[in-house]
Amino acid sequence: MRVVITLRVMSPRRGGAFFFRDSKTIVALRATITRSVMTTLKAPMLRYIAYPLGYLWALPNTLLGACFVVPALLSGGGVRFERGAMEIHGGFASWFLRNLCRGACAMTLGHVILGQDRASLDRTRDHEHVHVGQYMRWGPFFLPAYGLSSFLCWRRGLDPYLDNRFEKDAYAKFP
Ligand SMILES: [Zn+2]
Repeated sequence: MRVVITLRVMSPRRGGAFFFRDSKTIVALRATITRSVMTTLKAPMLRYIAYPLGYLWALPNTLLGACFVVPALLSGGGVRFERGAMEIHGGFASWFLRNLCRGACAMTLGHVILGQDRASLDRTRDHEHVHVGQYMRWGPFFLPAYGLSSFLCWRRGLDPYLDNRFEKDAYAKFP
């Protein structure tokens, strides 16, 4: 969304006649006002429009992650909510990460984060929330895109995990 404000600034010069000031000043003033209006609108737009849409867009992945709740609870694991995401740790979640995800400390599926234990979740929360943001942008296309990126890395002889574009983005922000 872009708000365009037409601003007319006139100065009384040249014998009382009114002239427009130079166009650079008008452009600069208009840019400043547009920026401040956008800053004012941005927070509520994110809060009331972008975030709910992001949750909805990521929902298929979140539901996949939610499938871990019952097996984890039945096998001695736990569930908690932190920073708008569900965190599942221990029990089956831990077994899954150890045996099927190359011993990863944590893994994100939509708004669900699986962790080996509470300490792993605390340590990796910032990094995993970069993935939460990626799910909110890519929605149902995130997992295919992630898999494709890993596949292309493997084909080029790179590391399918560390060179994956989504991991590089997350590690660049939170190593
Ligand atoms: Zn990661």
